[in-house]
Amino acid sequence: MKTLCLGIETSCDDTSLCLLEHENGTSSILSFKTFSQETILREWGGVVPEIASRNHLEKLLPLLKQVFEDAQRSIDELKLISVTTHPGLLGPLLTGLNMAKTLALFTKASIVPANHLMAHLEAIGLTQGYNSYPYLGVLVSGGHTLFAKVTGPLEMEILGTTLDDAAGEAFDKGGKLLGLGYPAGRIIDLLAGYGNKEAISFPIGLKDKKTANLSYSGVKTQLRNYLEKNPELILTPDQRDLILKDPSVASQEFKDVCASYQHAIVNAIILKLKMAFELNDLKELPIVVGGGVACNRYLRIRLKENFKNVSVVEPKYCTDNGAMIAHYGCLLQELAIPFPKCLGLDARDRIISKRGEKENQLVLN
Ligand code: ADP
Ligand code: MG
Repeated sequence: MKTLCLGIETSCDDTSLCLLEHENGTSSILSFKTFSQETILREWGGVVPEIASRNHLEKLLPLLKQVFEDAQRSIDELKLISVTTHPGLLGPLLTGLNMAKTLALFTKASIVPANHLMAHLEAIGLTQGYNSYPYLGVLVSGGHTLFAKVTGPLEMEILGTTLDDAAGEAFDKGGKLLGLGYPAGRIIDLLAGYGNKEAISFPIGLKDKKTANLSYSGVKTQLRNYLEKNPELILTPDQRDLILKDPSVASQEFKDVCASYQHAIVNAIILKLKMAFELNDLKELPIVVGGGVACNRYLRIRLKENFKNVSVVEPKYCTDNGAMIAHYGCLLQELAIPFPKCLGLDARDRIISKRGEKENQLVLN
């Protein structure tokens, strides 16, 4: 039987809704709308939770109207709502959850409180039409960077994680130092395409350590030091605006810095992913890559060059989006919290699979 599901994502700075139909593990997207706060937040140099929450509140209802109109479906048909409840910024999460609960009140639909990290990886089902297990999940986003053995939609064992910044954070913080503004991953990706990645040697954190954990604080410090010696490279707001419109106009030296910095971030992922395989004797486990940084063109190339069986989530489902939340919710629909119990949900609740108290296992709560 087909399930009509609405996915709601408001954990950070993207307001994203998706209406899809799901049957036997396969999702067909009916409509999908995202409002990104990127330009609004650039002014503030990053995510301000209070401002992000206000923007979600403003955008949620118009987007809701639009997705139902585009899909030519009625709210009365809704049986399942999947909403991000963890992890994320509390205020933004509450805006999405409150909309989910209000809709449930009108439609008596059930709610899946969805874990955002698993949803990023399970979004591979939107790209390839099905989800299969086990796989080695590589989650690279603005808030997280981790390697995990995934054996089911609720089963994730963490094999390695960043000890400080996430990969996306390394891109964004580096971009800030360079004067590129927030967020910077996409523009560094574009600029790096014109640059020489060997021009500057940036370090790889924990390079010689037998661990699958990563660290990005060193590369960021090295960039800061480099820019202190070469301050003329830091962009003025006018130069930045020109470069955001057309990256090719940046100086060659600037493009080289971007290429070298990106090279170091990507190298760390490749090296530590190899280490995760080696240390856990994972042999030829398929790799699934998701999260915003999975959009990075150079990372995608390097993954394919270095590993045999790699599937990367399509770019449109990589950065935060309601489609991955809806799809993931459908995979867990048997565990959905029915009406009216779902009205008691809070923005930290999520469906769990308790597999013991071991520290390296993500226990969804
Ligand atoms: P989060 O869930 O942590 O909010 P997302 O999954 O939405 O993060 O991803 C956003 C992150 O992805 C940002 O840090 C952004 O800079 C990064 N990003 C987006 N596109 C690219 C790209 N092409 N190359 C590198 N990083 C990228
Ligand atoms: Mg995300």
